[in-house]
Amino acid sequence: MSEEHLAVRRIREGTVIDHVAPGTALRVLSALGVTGQDGHIVTIAMNVPSDKLSKKDIVKIENRFLRADETNKIALISPSATVNIIRNFKVVEKRNVDLPEVLEGVFHCPNPTCISNSSEPLTPLLTVVSRSPPKLRCKYCTRVFKLEDLL
Ligand SMILES: [Zn+2]
Repeated sequence: MSEEHLAVRRIREGTVIDHVAPGTALRVLSALGVTGQDGHIVTIAMNVPSDKLSKKDIVKIENRFLRADETNKIALISPSATVNIIRNFKVVEKRNVDLPEVLEGVFHCPNPTCISNSSEPLTPLLTVVSRSPPKLRCKYCTRVFKLEDLL
């Protein structure tokens, strides 16, 4: 077993996000809304030696199975990330992250005067206008935000 596999223990059930761009694991967790408050084990390894990238981060979220629409928002932070769904210690699903054109209900618009932040029940809609570096435009107030503004 290689050094990179030993860095984080295996999990029985849950989601493993591998090949995360080095140093971005905390932003990935933030984008996923994983706070640790639900009591499940979350393991983070940062700057682990990797064959594919020279370094990578790994995130393991136990007892939570992230859907593709949840993990696709990781593409903004780390397009190289791979998502593994684990059941009974086995990888039952492996997928790459794929950034959609429009992010619906994923991030709130940071503009406090935007109509999507009023008492109106509007689903936040952000259009990806640039991928690298990531920039998104709010459909309602048409302002353009950097990824850092959204996390
Ligand atoms: Zn807005």
